[in-house]
Formats: sequence, structure tokens, C-alpha cells
Amino acid sequence: MNLNITCIPGDGIGPEILSEAKKVLLKMAEVYSHEILFTDILMGGASIDAHGVPLTEDAVLKAKKADAVLMGSIGGDPVVSPWYKLEPKLRPEAGLLKLRKELNLFANLRPAVLYDELKEACPLREEIASCGFDMLIIRELTGGLYFGERKTVIENGLRKAYDTLVYDENEVRRIAVKAFEIASKRKNQVISVDKANVLDSSRLWRSVVDEVKKDYPDVTLSHMLVDNCAMQLVKNPAQFDVILTENMFGDILSDEASMIAGSIGMLPSASLNETKFGLYEPSHGSAPDIAGLDLANPLATILSAAMMLTYSFSLDKEAAAIEKAVKQVLREGYRTGDIYSDKAASGLTKVGCRKMGELVAERI
Ligand code: NAD
Repeated sequence: MNLNITCIPGDGIGPEILSEAKKVLLKMAEVYSHEILFTDILMGGASIDAHGVPLTEDAVLKAKKADAVLMGSIGGDPVVSPWYKLEPKLRPEAGLLKLRKELNLFANLRPAVLYDELKEACPLREEIASCGFDMLIIRELTGGLYFGERKTVIENGLRKAYDTLVYDENEVRRIAVKAFEIASKRKNQVISVDKANVLDSSRLWRSVVDEVKKDYPDVTLSHMLVDNCAMQLVKNPAQFDVILTENMFGDILSDEASMIAGSIGMLPSASLNETKFGLYEPSHGSAPDIAGLDLANPLATILSAAMMLTYSFSLDKEAAAIEKAVKQVLREGYRTGDIYSDKAASGLTKVGCRKMGELVAERI
């Protein structure tokens, strides 16, 4: 198969971690006889330095022409970087928002997996962590409170602010379909999270999700209120397979889930549109504090590349080979600094970003 992938190295540790993901993809292509064409584009601070804007039209075109986009991360230290003295629409993050909009990426997928080998990094009590968990949070990304009408007015001498949480049924339906499709390839379970005891938008959400469920008889559906879900994530995370939720609830719950998974350096993500196209990136930022020092953990980006093989190319066997190689490297005791523990130091070997990428590639 020919894989046409546009790459965004970005800023900070972005170029280092992306280059390890490319290394692993090239090894996968060699083993499974695929052809990969990588095209790099600039985004974020790197694009501001070169072109004065965080994303050029030419870069958008190149992203649109690809089968998928794989990204490192963008942005600098907001306190010291000159990029943050620019007006908001010219700052690094504006490039990513523009790209998401241009590509109509409405479904954000964030897995939170507790690896057996990293259980000591989980902040939950041992009897909870020992059960492990493997969940996928599917968050609606282009609607809801973050995109509704907002304003601040003065009424009777008082400042008053409004934000509007709006969804139409088509927006709910298309993300629900994604969630059921994906759940049917996992453990056949969707928990839809809302606040239907209070919000009209949640009551619409719940009724549309119930309608979509009728087309997926093998997938079980239950509804959970968002406050309860926040508690259940720390009380019994093993109960979750696919969590489906709207934009703001998903923003908060996916960060909570990433905390309980231990290290931010291990968490991939995907943002999809209605076709097989997707943007794949680690859940963490550009870590300017460790950029260029060969200290970054490339595994979240490597696992994002594995998600890309699953969701954009339907290469499930190849994706599984990458995930297996990551687990094997962890089982053999190799750790980058962020997941290295002195407490369990016996048998662990601390490695840098490049070495970690090499170890994973060698095991495919
Ligand atoms: P961050 O995720 O970059 O870093 C938080 C902490 O985690 C730092 O101590 C960092 O060293 C560590 N860390 C992060 N990724 C790591 C990895 N792979 N290996 C080892 N350690 C890792 O968050 P931040 O410091 O709040 O943000 C830095 C910049 O990243 C900001 O400009 C922010 O806007 C940007 N950002 C970009 C994205 C994105 O590109 N999608 C997402 C979040 C933040």
C-alpha cells in the first residue's frame, strides 16, 4: 500500500519525537512491504519564524492532499517566547486551530491505557491500579460551548457574560456514529456522558445517541452524568471502554484520564473527520524545557502513528505490531526519564529519545 503522510515536526521537542515516529513507520513499511511518502510542512512557531504566520495556505493544501497528518507538537514557553507577544491569531496555537477547522476534524480520540509495566506511575490506590484500564475517550471537537455565541454586556451597571452551548442533531449523530463504529471493533461498550438532568443540549444528545444505538445491536449503551463520570474515572476506571461526550466535558474528562494513566509522554491522540482522514499527535505539548536534549519520550508520538495506521489506513496488523513493540521495550525495562522510577530502579535502563525510537523500531 502507498501511504501519503504529511508531517508537522513543529516546535520544542516536536522534531525529535516526530523523527522517532518516522523511524518506526519506515521499519513497519519495510517489514510489511508498504511505500511511505513523507511531506514535511511548517506549523506553529517554526512557521512564524519562516513566514510570519503560524500556518500558510500552501501548508494547508499539502495537508489536504495527504491521506493523514502526523504531528509532533507546537508552541514555545509562553513567558519567554517572542511568539506570544504577537496578537492571538498569529500565535503558534492559531495554526493548529486553523488546521482543525480546514480539515473539519470533529472527532477527537484519546486513549488512556495503564500499561502493566507502568503501574507504579499511576496515582490511584494499588487495588484500583492493579485492575488496569484501557479506555478511549471520544470527544466532539467542533461544537458546543467553545464554539457557541458569547458576549459580555453591562446591565444595570453590572458586567454580565454569556456563553452558549449549542448542538444540532446532525453534529451529535456523526460523532455518535464514530463512537459506535469504533466500539464495535473494541469491547462493544459505549458510555455516553452528559448532564441530561439539567441541560437541554444534553437531553438532545441523549436522545440522538439512543437513535444511533438502534443501528448497532451488538454494542451496549449506557448513559452517565458527567459529575458521576468524573468520580467513576478515579474509583473504577476499568469499567470503561468507549466514553462518548461533548466538547467541554471531553476536554476535562480526557485530562483527568491522562493523569490516572501515569505519564503524559505515553498518550497518543487522533482527530478525525467524516472520511478516513485524520490528524494524529501526542496529547502532550512541545515541552520547551527539555527540547533538543534527547530527553523526550517519543512513545506518545509513536503510538499516535499506530492510531494513524488503524484509523486512516485500516492497517490493523501493522498498528498492533507497533503497539506490541512498545510494550516489549517497556517489559525489557527501557525507560525515558519521565517514566523512569528510582524506586523500581533495579532492572530499569534509562534511555534518551533517539534510543527509545531505535529500540521500538528494532522490535517490529
Ligand atoms: P507540555 O506538555 O509541553 O509539558 C508539561 C511537562 O511535561 C513539562 O515538564 C515537559 O517537560 C513534560 N513533557 C511533556 N511531554 C513530554 C515527553 N514527550 N517526554 C518527556 N516529558 C514530557 O505542556 P506545557 O509546558 O504546558 O506547554 C508547552 C507548550 O506546548 C506551550 O506552548 C503549549 O501551548 C504547547 N502545547 C501544544 C500542544 C499541541 O501541540 N497540540 C498541546 C499542549 C500544549
